[in-house]
Amino acid sequence: MMNIITTIDELQKVIKEMKTQNKQIGFVPTMGYLHEGHRALMKKAREENDVVVLSIFVNPLQFGPNEDLESYPRDFVRDQDAASAEGVDIIFYPTPAEMYPEELSVTIQVRKRTDALCGASRPGHFDGVATVLTKLFHLVQPDRAYFGKKDAQQAAVVEGLVKDFNFPLQVVPVDTVREPDGLAKSSRNVYLSEKERKEAPALYRSLQLGEELIDSGETNPETVISAIKDKILTETSGEIDYVNLLSYPNLENMDTIQGTCIIALAVKFSKARLIDNIILTREQEEA
Ligand code: AMP
Repeated sequence: MMNIITTIDELQKVIKEMKTQNKQIGFVPTMGYLHEGHRALMKKAREENDVVVLSIFVNPLQFGPNEDLESYPRDFVRDQDAASAEGVDIIFYPTPAEMYPEELSVTIQVRKRTDALCGASRPGHFDGVATVLTKLFHLVQPDRAYFGKKDAQQAAVVEGLVKDFNFPLQVVPVDTVREPDGLAKSSRNVYLSEKERKEAPALYRSLQLGEELIDSGETNPETVISAIKDKILTETSGEIDYVNLLSYPNLENMDTIQGTCIIALAVKFSKARLIDNIILTREQEEA
């Protein structure tokens, strides 16, 4: 039987019990409106742990003043079915008042890996993510926590948080799950108009074009970036927020493409801002 827990008190009681029984806990933090991407995380957690805890919490701290906190899609009834089908043991589903009864006196500030990509266009976003995860990691005390590579910058920030604050858990990255036409699954895809939905697979195709250019020997990041931008502008009506090519996981600019890097983009459609990325490794040339 899946246990739905809405209070911190109850969660702490149940987790304490699990710990005395030496159960391995797998944790999947989400904002709900679950799709196949979230389900891949739950599946992996189910395979690797005795107990799977899923959290569903649309975290106000990680939304900017002009972002979609109010309109973020929610459907807890449907989410319960998805969680139960994936064998989740506990859903933690707190209200914002339960998580933040009053303004926090201490928050986490992320100092690296946030100058670029979404960190640059969403100031404070990753501080909000790191702060809520700090609370959730303390509450759930997972052995493993599962994060999608779709949010690659988030995964990189979480790696830093876990390392710097010595959380005794392993971060497990999970590959991006896509629609058959290549569009990365996202809770925000429901906000695409019919026309935009048809255009949106061009985002992934443009990333693939970038990868092909690199595979065929291109070493200049700017050349790859402009080819990707051209393709997005020709094939979609979206407005480019950013297209960038950086080292991964440190997310630093490179003069020449080498080692492990990420090509990442964010594009704004009328009601949804979509992100996607590809992580690839270019072998070092022999000196
Ligand atoms: P969210 O509910 O959007 O905050 O996402 C919760 C978790 O699911 C994060 O670790 C995301 O990276 C992951 N996730 C979201 N979309 C996908 C996807 N298409 N494939 C894999 N993981 C995903």
